[in-house]
This record gives sequence, structure tokens and C-alpha cells, in this order.
Amino acid sequence: MYIQLSELGGRIRGDARRGVGASCHVLIIKVYGRTYCYLIDCGMDFSAMGNPVSWEDPIGLAGLKEFPEINDAFVSHVHRDHGSCLARRPVLSRMKKNTRLFCSRPTAAFLPHVLADQRSFSDRREEEVPYSVDDINALLERMKIIFKPGVLELVPGIVSVCILPSGHTRGSCQLIFLVQENRKKVKIMFSGDYAVHDTFSTVGALLPPNNWSPDIIGSFDCTFGGLLLKSWDEEMDRLIMDSREMIARGGDVLVFASAFDYCPIVAQKLGELGIPVCLDGYSMVNFAHTMCSEDGVWCEQDQTIMLDAAHVCERPGEALGYFDGPCAIVASSGTGQGPAARYLASMAYRDDVLIVAPGLVVPGSNGHRIMQAKHSDGYALIEVDGEMIRTPVYARCEQYGLITHSRQQDAIPRIGLLLENSQFLKSTGHPLVGLHHGSFSALNAYENALSGLQTFRGDIKKDRDIVLVDW
Ligand SMILES: [Zn+2]
Ligand SMILES: [Zn+2]
Repeated sequence: MYIQLSELGGRIRGDARRGVGASCHVLIIKVYGRTYCYLIDCGMDFSAMGNPVSWEDPIGLAGLKEFPEINDAFVSHVHRDHGSCLARRPVLSRMKKNTRLFCSRPTAAFLPHVLADQRSFSDRREEEVPYSVDDINALLERMKIIFKPGVLELVPGIVSVCILPSGHTRGSCQLIFLVQENRKKVKIMFSGDYAVHDTFSTVGALLPPNNWSPDIIGSFDCTFGGLLLKSWDEEMDRLIMDSREMIARGGDVLVFASAFDYCPIVAQKLGELGIPVCLDGYSMVNFAHTMCSEDGVWCEQDQTIMLDAAHVCERPGEALGYFDGPCAIVASSGTGQGPAARYLASMAYRDDVLIVAPGLVVPGSNGHRIMQAKHSDGYALIEVDGEMIRTPVYARCEQYGLITHSRQQDAIPRIGLLLENSQFLKSTGHPLVGLHHGSFSALNAYENALSGLQTFRGDIKKDRDIVLVDW
């Protein structure tokens, strides 16, 4: 038995200081004289705004052709850094006639929209479009929906995979592969984006059942290494308190966030307080409706969302002046040019506005520039409908730590629990743990905190092709 893991995403060396990169792994399994190749995620790497092209392939994607053809592909969740390159030609061309794309039911419902959105966004920007409509359809035809968490046999008696929720967003999953050859058995986990705590629309990742405890963690989500973050509840309370205060003094609140589950859930929370709320963002409203439907649910942990209290805008920009008095506007930031851009442009100069970034703000994005304005000359340069606009920022800008990845202080003990039954813990004392999806400093922090284990990391060249098992 020989198993190799190759990293095609992430960032290498100095580039890892500037970002996380895309997620893209290749798992090669050689057993009984046969070779199997699995692709786990293939997302986009985002260059800073203002660059000629808004998207990039995973840094190592060109190397995909060096590997055997793909037997099956998986997409852990619908975020663009995980799934948006699957319909690219260099990926499709490596698929066999019967290659399947496995994903959870909510991911299956959202993915076609995310791919179509990327196409129309690139079209509007007059940049190279990553794929044609035919390419998208060619990918979607391969889709096999996982209706609920459980075990899937890929090659009967040889390779199977346990697919479980990962707590990060609606439909997100972790994968644990089981490979068997005669009496040899090994289980390898891929965390996907992973949250130990409860997040917006689902609850925190549970441990796998005992018979699926991994021997090796092929990849673990390191997004928030190095930062000691407050708890979700504390940050949600602060967001609510600040919003209430601004509304009470007659001002407005502008929330900009990812269309996915941030926007609908923050809208729901503010609506529950009796604050008039406007929701603006076509994709966001689509997502929210899907999340409320049968197609948007795949496990018991998925939380219901209710948008009854919010006004859903029919025309972009409609929220301004929709209510007579103070209100909260929740707008999706999209790929930097979502509806939020216009609201930022027309509200940032007002000193009776609270601008809320509920979670992570992507460096280089409009929101990031607004948040940074107070550290420079008080102005922000933002991109609205393809034009750069310089606006003074008098609004109160607050970022909150509502993060949908594990805090490091929760993740480290979780890794310990995950590997408690590892056969390598018993034999060598140092099971392998792959550290991915983190900046240079985040990966450092995880590496230091896990010094008792045998770690390898995506930003180090020699670690990008690693032999997990050679028996
Ligand atoms: Zn994600
Ligand atoms: Zn991610």
C-alpha cells in the first residue's frame, strides 16, 4: 500500500504571508497493483482587487496533468476558494468518462449559482471568463448528491469515504478516507473548512464515530492560527449592542458580508430586535431561499433561518430611503462588486452610520479599504461598478470576530481527540498532520502548538508531495 498526498493549492513561502490561496488536494492511492486518484476541492485563488483578473487557478493546477486521471472528485463546500475551479478545462480534461463529483445536498443546490455568478462577474469586468456554460454543465452532469452524512464505497472493499458535517457553513463537510489492502487499513481525514463552535446556519463539527477516527490528518484548516479570538457569543452580543445603540440615536447600520450565510443570519438577528431591516443582494436572497428549502438541508445540525422580518429589495440600491426612520441594511459584498459597494459609497461619509463587518474582511477588498481608512488619511478608495471612487470615511467602522473556522484554542484539543485512536499514535507516537488553508503566521502557530505530532505544511515546497503511507 502506497498513499501520497499532493497539495496544488495554498501559497508557497513568502506568498503565504499575503494570503491563504485556494484549496486543492490530490490523493493518490496504490493498492493491489492498481492506482486511484482523487481530487479534493479545487477552488480559486484571489488576487488583490485592482488586478486585471479577479481570479486565479490554484498555484499548482498546471501539475494536475502529471497525475493519473481523476477517479472521483469531491467538493467540501460551496465557497469559491474550494469549488470554483472545478469547471475549469485543465480539471475537466483530467476526468475519466465515469468520474463523479461528490458533494452534500446543500452544496449541490448552491454550486451551479456560484459558478454562474463567477462567469457573469468576469463577463461584467471584461476579463477572461474561467469557463463556458458548457463547461459548467459538463461538471454538473457528474454531480452525485450526498443526501445525508454517512459512508460511501468508492471502490468496493478497497476505498471508502465517510462524509460528515464540518460546522463551517451550510452543507460543508469533512472527509475521512478508509483504504484497505488485505489486512492493512488506514484512515485519512480532510477537515475541509472546519469549525468546532456553532456558526450561522449549522452547529459545530462533531467527532466522527469511533470506527472512523482517523490515523492521519491529511489536511487541517488552519485559518485562524496565531490569533486569540473571542468567542462567537461575545462577538455576536457586541454586534447587537453596537447596532442597537446606533439605531437608538437615530443612525443607520450597514452590514456587509458574504452572501452565503452571514447576510441572512445577521439580518435575522437584527430583525428579531425589532430593527427594520433591508436585505439587498440577488444571490444572497437566492441562497437564503434555498437554505430554507429541502434542498438546503442535509443533516440534523442545520439550523432554520427565518427572514420574515426583513424587507427584501427588488432593485439594487433600493434600501436607501426605503424606511422613514433608522434602519439596518444588510448587503452582500459578493466578489467585491456586490450590492454592498454602492451602500459603502453612499454611507461611509455619514457620521451617523455604523458599518459592520461581521467576520473576516478580505485584504484589498472594498470593505477592507473602508475599515483601514481610519489608519490612513480618513479616505478610502473603493471600486463601484468598475469605477474607483474616493470617499471620506466618517462612519463608525467595526469588525466583529464572527468566524466560521475554528479558533486555534479550540482546534488544538480537537486534533488531539481526533487522533486519539490513531494506529500511528500507538506505534510511533507521532501521527501525521497536514497543515493547510492558513497564512504563513497561521501555519507557524499550528505547527508550534502541535509540536508533539509530525506536521507538514502547504507553504513548504518539500511538504507539498508527501508520502502518507508506504507499507
Ligand atoms: Zn469556506
Ligand atoms: Zn476556505
